[in-house]
Amino acid sequence: MPLFESQELKIYNSLKGHKETFYPINEGHVGMYVCGPTVYSNVHLGNCRTFMSFDMIFRYLKHLGYKVRYVRNITDAGHLVDDAEDGEDKIAKKARLEKLEPMEVVQRYTLDFHNILEKFNFLPPSIEPTATGHIIEQIEIIKEILGKGFAYEINGSVYFDVATFNETNEYGKLSGRKLEDMVANTRELTAQDEKRNPQDFALWKKAEPQHIMRWPSPWGDGFPGWHLECTAMSTKYLGETFDIHGGGMDLKFPHHECEIAQAEASYGKSPVNYWLHANMLTMNGKKMAKSTGNNILPGEIFTGDNDILSKPFAPSVVRFFMMQAHYTSILDLSNDALLASEKGFNRLMEAYNLLDSLPTGKQSDFDVKAWKQKCYDAMNDDFNSPILIANLFDAVRHINLIKEGKESIANEDKDLLAEALHAFVFEILGLEQKVGNNQDTEKLSGVVELLIQLRKEARENRDFSTSDKIRDQLAELGIQLKDGKDGTTFSIL
Ligand SMILES: [Zn+2]
Repeated sequence: MPLFESQELKIYNSLKGHKETFYPINEGHVGMYVCGPTVYSNVHLGNCRTFMSFDMIFRYLKHLGYKVRYVRNITDAGHLVDDAEDGEDKIAKKARLEKLEPMEVVQRYTLDFHNILEKFNFLPPSIEPTATGHIIEQIEIIKEILGKGFAYEINGSVYFDVATFNETNEYGKLSGRKLEDMVANTRELTAQDEKRNPQDFALWKKAEPQHIMRWPSPWGDGFPGWHLECTAMSTKYLGETFDIHGGGMDLKFPHHECEIAQAEASYGKSPVNYWLHANMLTMNGKKMAKSTGNNILPGEIFTGDNDILSKPFAPSVVRFFMMQAHYTSILDLSNDALLASEKGFNRLMEAYNLLDSLPTGKQSDFDVKAWKQKCYDAMNDDFNSPILIANLFDAVRHINLIKEGKESIANEDKDLLAEALHAFVFEILGLEQKVGNNQDTEKLSGVVELLIQLRKEARENRDFSTSDKIRDQLAELGIQLKDGKDGTTFSIL
C-alpha cells in the first residue's frame, strides 16, 4: 500500500487562503508546475530558496509514493525588464550590453543555474521546457483567446482584454484584488499606449526592427508576453487543469493572476487546483537587492568570499539552514544564522553516524513508531520542515542518551530509527553527507582559525615577518584572510 493512502497531506492553498487536504486529479499521480528562472544573470540565492522549497515538496510527494511529473521551465525570452509592457526583453538587453548572441546568454546562465542547483543536491525536474521551444504553442493559445473575444490585436501586438474577461470571470482572485480597485489606483493611459486599459497585458509584442529576438506570427514578427509561456508549457505537459502550481510570492501578481486569466479564457476552466507560494529570503534583516549591495551569490557562500561571511559554508549547511524555516515564512540569512546551522547540521550528522555502533537492549525507552509518525505529521501539515527538524533533534537526544548508556533501544527499533532518519534527512530534506567534504571543511576551518590566532599573537609581539608569512602563504594556497573591525575572517577562493 503506498504511503499516501495512510498519510493525510494538507496543503496551504493560496487560492483559497487556507489549508486543505490534498486530493490529486488522478489517483497516485501528481502534476506540478513551478515557474523557473529567467536566465539573464547568475541565479539569485532568494530564487534558490524558492526552488529548494519545491524540491523538498517534490521529494516528499515522491516519498509518499506518488508518481510526480514535475515541470519547471526556463524563461529564455519574453520577460521584460520592468515586468510590465514597455520594457526590453531581459535576455535581449543583456545580449546587447555584452555583445553576445541571446542564446549565449541563455546558455551561460542556464549552466550556472544547473551547477548551483546540483551543488545544493536538487533532484532534476521531470521536464525543463524553454519558452523559445514553445513559440508555436503560445501562438495557438493567442489564437484561441482572440477567437473567444478576450483579446485584441493592435499594430502587430495582441493584448489580453482584462475588463471583458472580468465580466464573466474573476480577475484578481488569487491575489485578492478587485479590478475596480486596480483601475482606481492606476495611472491613465498616455497617448502612446496601445492598450485599451492599463490592466491589459501583452500576449504578443511586435518586434521593432532592432529587436534581436523575434519570431513570425499571424500578427507579424514579434515575441510572446512573459505570462503566456507558463500557460503554454503547463497545459502541454500537465493538461488544462493540473494539481499543483508553485512559485515565489512575488509572482502571485501579476504573473500567476495572468496565467489563470489566460487559461480560463482559452479553455474555460481553472488551470490549477492548489496554488503554492514560497516566501522570500532577506539578509541581515533587509531585503536582498543588487542595487543596495545587500546581496550574495550562492557561489560566494561556498567560498566565503563576501563581506558578511566570516568563513565558507558547505551547500548542505545552507540547505539545512533553509529547511529550518517553513517555506511560507520570511527567512533571514546572516553569518550567525549560518554558524548556528552548521553546528546543528554537524550534530545531526554525528548522531546519524553513531547509529551503527549503538548498543541494543531488550526493550526501548524511546517510542520510535510514535516518533516516526510525528515526523510524518509535521510534513503532512503543509510540509512543515522546521517541526520535522525539531523532531529529528528529539531523536538525536535519544541517540546520545543511548550511547551514554542512560537509555536503551531494542534491535528492531534501532533499525526502524535508522531507516526513518535516512528517509527524512537525506531523501526528503535532501541533505548530503559527503565523506571527506563536510568533515574536512570543518577540520580545514579549524586549522585556518588556529593560524589566524597565531598570526594575531605574532602581530601583538611585533613579529611582523611571521604574521606576513602566514598571510602570504595562505594566500598562495588560495585562502584569503580579511582583517575587519570584528577580527579576521577568511575565504577559500
Ligand atoms: Zn510562470
